[in-house]
Amino acid sequence: MLVVKKFGGTSVGNKDRIFNVARRCIEDYKKGNQVVVVLSAMGDTTDDLLAKAEEINPKAPKREVDMLLACGEQTSVALMAMAMAKLGVPAVSLNAFQVAMHTTSAYGNARFKRIDTDRIMSELELNKIVIVTGFQGVNKYDDITTLGRGGSDTTAVALAAALHADACEIYTDVDGVYTCDPRIVPEARKLKEISYDEMLEMATLGAKVLHNRSVELAKKYNVPLVVRSSLTDAEGTLVKEEAKVEGMLISGVAVDKDVARIALIGLKNEPGIAFKVFDCLAKHNINVDVILQSIGRDNTKDISFTVALTDVDEALDVLKKEQNHLTFQKIEEETDVAKLSVVGAGMQTNAGVAAGMFEALYNVGVNIRMISTSEIRITVLIDKNDVDVATRAVHDKFIGD
Ligand code: ADP
Ligand code: ASP
Ligand code: MG
Repeated sequence: MLVVKKFGGTSVGNKDRIFNVARRCIEDYKKGNQVVVVLSAMGDTTDDLLAKAEEINPKAPKREVDMLLACGEQTSVALMAMAMAKLGVPAVSLNAFQVAMHTTSAYGNARFKRIDTDRIMSELELNKIVIVTGFQGVNKYDDITTLGRGGSDTTAVALAAALHADACEIYTDVDGVYTCDPRIVPEARKLKEISYDEMLEMATLGAKVLHNRSVELAKKYNVPLVVRSSLTDAEGTLVKEEAKVEGMLISGVAVDKDVARIALIGLKNEPGIAFKVFDCLAKHNINVDVILQSIGRDNTKDISFTVALTDVDEALDVLKKEQNHLTFQKIEEETDVAKLSVVGAGMQTNAGVAAGMFEALYNVGVNIRMISTSEIRITVLIDKNDVDVATRAVHDKFIGD
């Protein structure tokens, strides 16, 4: 069997944890399996590196930021290979360049295009455990790229697909996917299974237990995932095409505090304006989520939308540069907002989920600022200060006993 095992930052955060992971991988290897390990940077390394960059230059070139961040994962894989060598097992660490993991050129937000498997396969044939850097890739200029925060999960799934692995296991600091972030709602329940579609919505809406693109890739290449703890043997959560519904209308509540709202006020009320605004953002790789258009005064219109907090400065810059072309009179931004979503395939056949969610928010006096829906989710934008109380109220409404 060929197994891809991915361990996140906390799971390799110190010497003891590194040896713990090494032993878990060796256990698998000694059963006769071929083992490929994907690692994130240790503990808070990525945040620390970003803080260093900020000190030197808050508007640092993205190419250089990626060059810097990639060091975090490279440290982890080298130390892991040393730990395994100490435990008497042959292992080799490889970075994105050595494997040849090709991505698009977008620094900080790259996507995999192609992964060469020759080097990994030849190392596996030499009976080694292969330890690969998560989160990074190489673009057509032979520069290092990164995949976006949390991207090591995506490296693991992409490798599992390219290597036709028999299993892809994501080890983290919780023992599975819960109905909500257990740090916010301690009563959240662990799910035995969740479908790709639901997990994709949850991840995109802020449940950072899996990187959303890892779920997208897993669905595309039909890679079943297991999310489980690196510290216990508890059974994890299976993420697959069809999950058994456990009699629940919704499978989870997701929270995203890293959002900002931008409002363009006084746009011309004529065809093509929305296209121009969102095309301008798309050209700069800025993803937009909840969108609201309303009629303003004197035959003008207002458009407001949310972007990731990390994109807000760039979004404001590019929009302001195009002010005349886009025709807005004023631009405003707010960063004290958060997104709260309920997700569940069950809501397709059940009216009343929206009403239930809004009632729960009303009961705790939380005001809704924007709403957006899809077939399997309802999202509201609320004040950041309200988020914990709102999350518990909504979770309690649908999932509480
Ligand atoms: P890693 O470093 O292993 O990749 P992350 O911090 O990226 O770990 O993701 C794990 C964290 O995701 C958990 O500690 C938990 O707080 C958070 N989380 C958010 N939503 C959920 C959820 N629905 N189920 C489980 N964990 C969640
Ligand atoms: N180290 C990277 C991050 O902190 C990637 C990851 O952990 O998946 O975002
Ligand atoms: Mg993660």
